[in-house]
Amino acid sequence: MAGRRFVFVDRDGTLIEDRGFVHRIDDYAPLPGAIEGLRELQNAGFEIAVVTNQSGIGRGFLSEADFEALQSHLVQDFAKQGVRIEATYHCPHRPDEGCACRKPGTALLKRAEEELGATLEESYVIGDKPHDVEMARRAGCHSIYVLTGEGAKRRAELPGDVAVANDLLDAARKILGAGAA
Ligand SMILES: [Mg+2]
Ligand SMILES: [Zn+2]
Repeated sequence: MAGRRFVFVDRDGTLIEDRGFVHRIDDYAPLPGAIEGLRELQNAGFEIAVVTNQSGIGRGFLSEADFEALQSHLVQDFAKQGVRIEATYHCPHRPDEGCACRKPGTALLKRAEEELGATLEESYVIGDKPHDVEMARRAGCHSIYVLTGEGAKRRAELPGDVAVANDLLDAARKILGAGAA
């Protein structure tokens, strides 16, 4: 298997403002440093994929089509600014459905491993919720917790040894500064 190193990035609260089940184009707002951070990671040889819980679909707040429309808007906007998003994986289920793909479940990362040839041990997860870090740990990925979105509010829930960054650009620089093995 080719050793493709990925950064699996959460979406709401990490790439864009988390306005609560975001799905209207009008509510699309990239967070400061998000595009620049991904560009630096990509320039250093990482590929980018989005991994996101979207329980608003299962709860009936938005449709799969709503999700796809906003996501393709994001992918195109990032592409215009030099960031190529290779794939998007989302969990549409409600928490009570007990699926394997809702974070901190690892089914979406396992799909990325199979479909993209991602080497999980050499890849990173970046996200603003404790479940992002927990998913990374279960799958054997590195992780960085960001203080955007819900990050600052929920920081106390983290295990003590988690790497923390102010935002996605800071996370990128921490990954690259660490040698990004
Ligand atoms: Mg999030
Ligand atoms: Zn799911």
